[in-house]
Formats: sequence, C-alpha cells, structure tokens
Amino acid sequence: MKDLIDKLEKNQILTKEEFVKLIENRTPEAADYLFEKARAVRHKYYSKDIYLRGLIEFTNYCKNDCYYCGIRKSNKNAIRYRLTKEQILECCKIGYELGFRTYVLQGGEDPFFTDNNLIEIIREIKQNYPDCAVTLSIGEKSYRSYKAYFKAGADRYLLRHETASEEHYNKIHPKELSLSNRKQCLRNLKEIGYQVGSGFMVGSPYQTTENLVEDLLFIKELNPEMVGIGPFIPHHDTPFKEFKGDNGELTLFMIGIIRLMIPNVLLPSTTALGTIDPNGREKGILSGANVVMPNLSPVNVRDKYLLYDNKICTGDESAECRHCMENRMNKIGYDVVVSRGDIKPKTI
Ligand code: SAM
Repeated sequence: MKDLIDKLEKNQILTKEEFVKLIENRTPEAADYLFEKARAVRHKYYSKDIYLRGLIEFTNYCKNDCYYCGIRKSNKNAIRYRLTKEQILECCKIGYELGFRTYVLQGGEDPFFTDNNLIEIIREIKQNYPDCAVTLSIGEKSYRSYKAYFKAGADRYLLRHETASEEHYNKIHPKELSLSNRKQCLRNLKEIGYQVGSGFMVGSPYQTTENLVEDLLFIKELNPEMVGIGPFIPHHDTPFKEFKGDNGELTLFMIGIIRLMIPNVLLPSTTALGTIDPNGREKGILSGANVVMPNLSPVNVRDKYLLYDNKICTGDESAECRHCMENRMNKIGYDVVVSRGDIKPKTI
C-alpha cells in the first residue's frame, strides 16, 4: 500500500488497477500513512489556514428528480421556499461582518430565478462586496447563461459530476438527465474562465470501487480548482431511503487521495461528513481538506434545505455556526482565516 501512496505523493498517476488495489485493500495503517502525506502537502500550500465559504441556500425548488436528493421535484413532503434578493443580500451582510469573503449561492434548479434575476443578484453582491468571491451552485445551464453570470461577476462554479460512470449515473438519475451534459457543462464553465469545482458522493447506491476510480481519473483529467466530495446519506422521502449511509471512513480516504493527486486543490470538509460523525469535519481537515462551508442561510429556512436526513446546523444562527467552526478548527491546530481563499498556484 505504501508504495502506491508514495507514487501518488510523487505526483505520478496510478493505473486503474492500482487505484482499485489501494482503495479495496486499505487498512487503518495505510489510511494514517495517506493522511500524514496529504496533510504535509496541504501544509505546504495552505499552511494551517482554513478557508471559509458562506453557504446561502436560496431556493429548494427543483425541476430535477435525482433519486438520492431530498429536494427532488417528486418529494411532495418538502416544504418549498425561495429567498428574495433582499434576503440574500442580508445573508451577505451578516456574512461579511462575520469575516466571510466568499459567498456560495446554492439551490435546486429553479426556473423562477431567470438569468436576469440571477445577474441582478450577482451584480449587487459584487458591487456591495468587491473584495468577495461569488460562487454559484445552481446546476446545469446553457453556455450562454454561464457566460452571462460570469460577465456579471461570478467567480466560481460548483457542479459535482456525481459519478463519472455512465452506467452508474443512469442508476441514480432519471432519464432526463445525462452524464454527457453534466460533463459538457463542466467543460463550458472551464472554457468561460470560472474557477470550477466538481465532485461526487461516496457510497451512493450501486457505486462500485471501479466507479470511484473512474471519478478519480475524471477529476485528474478535468483538473478542477475545487473538488467537493461527501458521503451519500439517505433521505426518508426518496427512492433511496433504504440504502445505507455509513460512508465516512471511505470518504476520508478519498479526500486523502485527492489531496495527493491535485496537491493545490481546494478541498472542502463537507457538512455531510459532519452529519454522519460529530467530528467528521475535523477528520476531513486532518485527512487533507482545507475548506469549510458554514451555513449563512436564514434560520427559518435551514431545515427545509434537507438534501439528506439529520443534516446538522439547521437550528443555529450564522454567527453561532461561524464561531463553532472556529473553535472546532482551533482545537485541531488550524486557523480560520478572513480571505477569499483562492487556489494557490501549483509549484511542482
Ligand atoms: N442543483 C445544484 C446541482 O445540481 O449541482 C446544486 C444543489 S445539489 C442539492 C448539491 C449537491 O448535494 C449535489 O451535487 C449532491 O452531490 C448533494 N446531495 C444531494 N443529495 C444527497 C444525499 N442524499 N447525500 C449526500 N449528498 C447529497
């Protein structure tokens, strides 16, 4: 195992077979070795800094029907909401005072928000907070729309590819959605000039080790600035409610691998990790992650943006989340910094 981890550390890509071997034969000792190397690389680029992203979940309406997601259109039990432009700007104001310098506007694919609406929101945020980055996470759009948001000032875009295997993609999505379009969107975003984030769920239904390896190889090829990975967690009102969601250990191992594979990448320790383990976000950082995304959404909508069951931080004010995060990071020897948190250039 150590030889494969050393190979990754030397920035050599593993073959499919080697990745499968590394993942399937992992042991707690191998994981410790991987995490030690991953931390060393992370410290080289980002020292002990933790970058903050303020997550604003501005709509839970969605026209899509992904089988795993709690806000899928067929979930009639979801209580739907949308934030107004004024509410979004209020979240930004609170966030700015709390030291956030990146806002992530995330939502379901909600046609109520036209391109013009979104452009107005992006422009206003950038006008009020020119020192902040705006990240969008609003799904699959046309090249024209992506270009228009970019021109309005959006800096970054998060669009997890979810799984790089066509066969697996079709098992967890309805037929209206396709992996080829998702991948094309990612290429379009790159071409336009966004800092792009892709990623996938670990342990999603029907996922095999080979699928995970395909995810790694796709990410290596795409070479995104950010990679968001988190454990799949079932939601009680979805077709996948009976599937298991205990994928924390494997998620951490994948974080370690991705840190070695793309040394300077921005890698969040996700809320989903914190949901399945009270110390999940700390463990994510200690496995090589360098970003956390506390919630800036108004408290009265938090429990309505329920992608999966038992999501944490649904009752806390933004200030509480921010300070709780700072304490958690300090306890493991890391420092939350006031910064846009852009990617550092690769040095090797
Ligand atoms: N609509 C946008 C999109 O498609 O990219 C952004 C919102 S979407 C809800 C954000 C992410 O939530 C997805 O990329 C997916 O990986 C994750 N997600 C959804 N359901 C999940 C579940 N049951 N467990 C873990 N993650 C989930």
